[in-house]
Amino acid sequence: MEIGPATRAIVSGATSGIGEATSRALAARGATVGLMARGAERLAALSSELEGSLELPADVGDREAVESEVSRFAEQAGGIELVVANAGIARTGPFLELDPAAAEEMVRVNFVGTLNLLRAAVPRMLDRGRGHLVVVSSAAALRAFPWTAVYGGTKAAQRAFAEAFRHELSGTGVSLTTVYPGEVETALHAHEPERTPDWLRRGESVAPERVADAILDAVWYRWS
Ligand code: NDP
Repeated sequence: MEIGPATRAIVSGATSGIGEATSRALAARGATVGLMARGAERLAALSSELEGSLELPADVGDREAVESEVSRFAEQAGGIELVVANAGIARTGPFLELDPAAAEEMVRVNFVGTLNLLRAAVPRMLDRGRGHLVVVSSAAALRAFPWTAVYGGTKAAQRAFAEAFRHELSGTGVSLTTVYPGEVETALHAHEPERTPDWLRRGESVAPERVADAILDAVWYRWS
């Protein structure tokens, strides 16, 4: 199915990088986009640019906040066809030197945040027997890299969850795609340039718009 004016989509981590590029690509096709992120200023700026979009201010790790924003979006937009569970953070460094609170925060945002968003949205899709889910994992879920033991663990957890949940959804009309990007030019590692491992600094990277295009192609393919 083409993404168009009838598509109502929620994107988490919508105000930067892959989520922003995906939100812009969806809005360019006329979709109503629910923009989920924490930073109010960037949310307001993006939503003023994207016609018909709705701000969904929430921390994905906060189950009640996510449920409340998803429910508000479903009521205002009249339904949900597409969810892109993209919000994520990265803290790198040798595992034993990583602040335990930072490690737990990655689990909370990257993995629990994915569970929270899908748990809130999917029952509404099942009621209509129609919808598509995109889980933005990472190449770090498929291959382990030094200094990203915990980050990679959260991405592998998303992968295992998404694969199992995809089986559970079989025959319901709701489908699921997991995305495994390589290195993408975003703000993900910008907060700790001194801790960016050499292998990451030297690697080739792609623009977030390329990942957004691949996501939209996957949605089109799965819905066709
Ligand atoms: P960015 O740092 O550019 O953007 C992250 C987005 O997530 C922002 O909009 C941020 O807004 C939001 N966000 C962060 N924490 C939360 C939270 N607790 N609740 C709600 N929103 C949150 O990252 P990327 O675009 O690079 O990353 C997006 C996804 O892609 C992540 O899951 C990442 O793991 C994955 N990925 C990225 C790769 C890369 O090389 N960049 C490679 C492979 C996968 P705010 O802070 O205002 O909430």
